[in-house]
Amino acid sequence: VEEEDPSKEGGEQEVAGVRLTHPDRVVFAGTGLSKHDLALYYETVQEWILPHLKKRPLTIVRCPQGGENKCFFQKHAAETIPDGIGRIAVPESEGTAVYMMANTLEALVALVQIGALELHTWGSHQRALMKPDRITFDLDPAPGLQWQRTVEAAQLMRGLLTEVGLQSFVKTTGGKGLHVVVPIVPGYGWDELKAWSHSIADYIADILPAQFTSNSRKSSRDGKIFLDYLRNGQGATAVAAYSPRNREHAPVSTPLFWEELDEGVRSDTFTIKNLPGRLQQLQQDPWQDYFTLKQKISSKMLRLFQRG
Ligand code: ATP
Ligand code: MN
Ligand code: MN
Repeated sequence: VEEEDPSKEGGEQEVAGVRLTHPDRVVFAGTGLSKHDLALYYETVQEWILPHLKKRPLTIVRCPQGGENKCFFQKHAAETIPDGIGRIAVPESEGTAVYMMANTLEALVALVQIGALELHTWGSHQRALMKPDRITFDLDPAPGLQWQRTVEAAQLMRGLLTEVGLQSFVKTTGGKGLHVVVPIVPGYGWDELKAWSHSIADYIADILPAQFTSNSRKSSRDGKIFLDYLRNGQGATAVAAYSPRNREHAPVSTPLFWEELDEGVRSDTFTIKNLPGRLQQLQQDPWQDYFTLKQKISSKMLRLFQRG
């Protein structure tokens, strides 16, 4: 097999000073979107996406031969990972691991270069890795469920959280469901907050057992929405806001105004192709208060949904 010479086939491109080999290689199957296009997407949305990635352990869905071929989750920053991508030391069960981190546009383009098609992060920041600053309720509808059911689930979750005094934000996942996200002032550890989000999932599933389950077993999900609280455990990740997904039409996990759920927006409505237009037209950030809101989970709130 002849060695590929990047300077011949397709040439090279630079975005943000980072060299892209095979810039014209299609990465999202069926979309025509190339490595170069993905890098330009990040250049366009950098101010929107970087605040969600900065200083957080990153896990990537990496597809070195494009999204149609073999992909894998990668969390550790191997030595072969380009220097432009940040590093962060993370305590693991056995010693310390080094994770990747995307703090800059350069890092994002370097991630494109190594075939990263999705960006997932921890729910905590370098300031306090063991104390989450975000709770994610991952609403996972069973196959075939009407979209409206997922919309209602998100609205129910929002209502419940509002009643206990917490503001929440909604985003599409780019997949089948929605994420309801609660930014919090770091205070409690992973286990406490996972237990808390579990108790809320149990609470809802107990009252409305025909519609919801908090049990991750596939067999218990039939016709229901699984309230996936497992995003809130130590080491767990959720797809970052504004990250693309390696699915049909390259959808993007998109922060929404709550009202948009009633206006027909679905989880795969926004894509790499149409998201930049959306952002340009917005009068206001749908998650305007997300980074400035200082809401605390009180010890009373923590016990609110406990039973027995
Ligand atoms: P959907 O709306 O289709 O459910 P989603 O992003 O919520 O989209 P899930 O299947 O619910 O997808 O997965 C939730 C999260 O679990 C993912 O966003 C990802 O961060 C994490 N995850 C999934 N598979 C793996 C894996 N193999 N390794 C590490 N993390 C994973
Ligand atoms: Mn999900
Ligand atoms: Mn899930």
